[in-house]
Amino acid sequence: MAAPTYPTLLSPLDLGHVVLKNRVLMGSMHVGHEEQIGSLTKLAAYFARRAEGGVGLMVTGGFSPNVEGWLKPLGGTLAGRWGAHKHKVVTEATHDAGGRIAMQILHAGRYGYHPLSVAPSRLKSPITPFTPRALSAKGVERTIEAYVTTAALAREAGYDGVEIMGSEGYLINQFLAPRTNKRTDAWGGSFEARARFPREIVRRVREKVGPDFIVIYRISLLDLVDDGSTWDETVQLAKWIEEAGASILNTGIGWHEARVPTIGTMVPRAGFAWVTRRLKPHVGIPVVASNRINMPNVAEELLAAGDADMVSLARPLLADPDWVAKAAASDPDAINTCIACNQACLDHAFQNRTASCLVNPLACHETELKLHPVKRRKRVAVVGAGPAGLAAATTAAERGHEVVLFEASEEVGGQFNLAKRVPGKEEFHETLRYFRRRLADTGVDVRLGQRVGAAELEGFDEVVLSTGVHPRKLKLPGIDHDKVVSYVQVLTGQVKVGERVAIIGAGGIGFDVAEFLLHEGSTMSTDVPAFSAAWGIDVDIASRGGLAERQDVAHTRQITLCQRSKGPLGKGLGKTTGWIHRASLKHGEVEMLGEVTYEKVDDAGLHVVVQGQRKVIPADHVVVCAGQVSARELQAPLAAKGVSVHLIGGADEAAELDAKRAIDQGTRLAASL
Ligand code: NAP
Ligand code: SF4
Repeated sequence: MAAPTYPTLLSPLDLGHVVLKNRVLMGSMHVGHEEQIGSLTKLAAYFARRAEGGVGLMVTGGFSPNVEGWLKPLGGTLAGRWGAHKHKVVTEATHDAGGRIAMQILHAGRYGYHPLSVAPSRLKSPITPFTPRALSAKGVERTIEAYVTTAALAREAGYDGVEIMGSEGYLINQFLAPRTNKRTDAWGGSFEARARFPREIVRRVREKVGPDFIVIYRISLLDLVDDGSTWDETVQLAKWIEEAGASILNTGIGWHEARVPTIGTMVPRAGFAWVTRRLKPHVGIPVVASNRINMPNVAEELLAAGDADMVSLARPLLADPDWVAKAAASDPDAINTCIACNQACLDHAFQNRTASCLVNPLACHETELKLHPVKRRKRVAVVGAGPAGLAAATTAAERGHEVVLFEASEEVGGQFNLAKRVPGKEEFHETLRYFRRRLADTGVDVRLGQRVGAAELEGFDEVVLSTGVHPRKLKLPGIDHDKVVSYVQVLTGQVKVGERVAIIGAGGIGFDVAEFLLHEGSTMSTDVPAFSAAWGIDVDIASRGGLAERQDVAHTRQITLCQRSKGPLGKGLGKTTGWIHRASLKHGEVEMLGEVTYEKVDDAGLHVVVQGQRKVIPADHVVVCAGQVSARELQAPLAAKGVSVHLIGGADEAAELDAKRAIDQGTRLAASL
């Protein structure tokens, strides 16, 4: 028998009273099913699906121990016996599918998005509008008891354990850091006093639940905010938490208010494993590495090197619930890789929408979006192999239809072939690799380099038009000047772009082009030291919170990004990632101009009026990123022949073109054919 490809990753982990079947912990993620009134059946189906895929231990999204600890009004809470009964559907479904599950206890403290929030001190966070009430000493005691009660209720509900959320800047972190703890009583002042709160929680929880129950403590290894914890304090805390009875130390990086990316796609894979490596020799209990571990080779490498005992994957298991099973089958090529875009998971969670996954729209929709085998096999033509077409073709073929996928160019991928060239978006290569594999596995007949006409599409039972978009052409004096180029020409390297660049349009693609021109050839998204230096992460952790001066990133181009509308540029970018793109361009000294009227292009550059002032932006090149129009030239000739079509992706609606909608629409259409 061949040796397993990932022996450490797949080796069991003995916790004393229980043996976990492998080293994969599914990290906590709020998916929006936690607050379901009445029943948690959707949450149960979501976890059962991941348990079937073989993950060793899963952690739920955070449940608050009391109303004050809510993340938002009526947020998921477990504070009474009726609640414990309600959770049984989750634990039973998980156990029936062969999995194990712990419930996270999360008290949001001053991150609570409601007027009842509390904190060690009366200090508003920069990311919430509510000022918390400072807990009295009695209030602190009551809060600790609330954690203990919730842990006991979790046990009653059938959970295998609890995770006590002590990172990301929530209440426990707020007690630990001088930034947020200004108390002068027994719960503030010295580090020992500030650390008393988590120590008491863990000690009393362990006392209550007994020895045969998993107690995970999630420790903040790097706060990445001023006046956070020092490294010595973090190590000391880890030792105290072990003594207090924790079974596992999970890790977290960065408070939510930190201005350093910690999980975005521009963060190198396993970009923070070096911190876990520093902690591990100081404690005896298993330590979990987290953040941007998305493929089995990355996990195996760090586990085999002894940097950690387990890896935490959250988003990668949304993207592919069978991640562990595919690793166990030594078939990483079959994994639908999380590209760390946050677009359907965290962005949704922060908008109070049900989470899902850009590359896997079935995620979190397990009870209502199912792929049933077809009753009658049809001949299906899909025209255009961008994200929408790939999703439709592979899903239809997987269900049993006979699918032909026509693509005019010589490669599949559409707009993804542009995105993958943007520094920090290299993960798009993985999605294309996954789709190529899925096309082969599902037997789609792929015809590359074939631009079809209406005549060739006659005779199919279903015709799907996923022909994408054309970049919008502008009507502007001088638009035919040699220096005016489209974003496609820039991203595909068809033009050698000069030193001074004006960009028309500051949507997702305008930002991408600015990033591309600023960081062309940069290794920041793959090289941990370069990434850390660029974002001001103190790799010696000599400062409180682990922050250092950001180092300048060498850039030669002078870039101006323009939009006609009012308000800050990049407002429409992702909720959890937009700030990163804005900070990155600001650091690269990209000039951002709003309320711009474009007048003309000539040898001098781009002539504009900015808030009433006429000016010339000197430019060697003017790059047009002014949105798209649908490419659906085939629709009319097909209609003339009486062939009805399904329009999806950019061909359907260019204004809202994005990969999340394209893949979702393609998948849902194919699920219904
Ligand atoms: P977009 O986000 O709609 O932006 C188009 C830009 O062009 C806007 O800044 C708009 O701003 C400008 N514009 C529109 N009509 C114009 C005209 N006639 N003349 C001059 N300017 C005009 O479209 P996109 O940038 O092409 O991106 C396409 C899609 O991909 C979007 O849905 C986007 O979200 C997605 N995407 C997202 C990311 C990301 O960061 N997550 C990255 C790439 C792409 P004004 O009207 O204010 O001038
Ligand atoms: Fe990963 Fe993006 Fe899917 Fe979230 S939406 S799980 S970040 S691929």
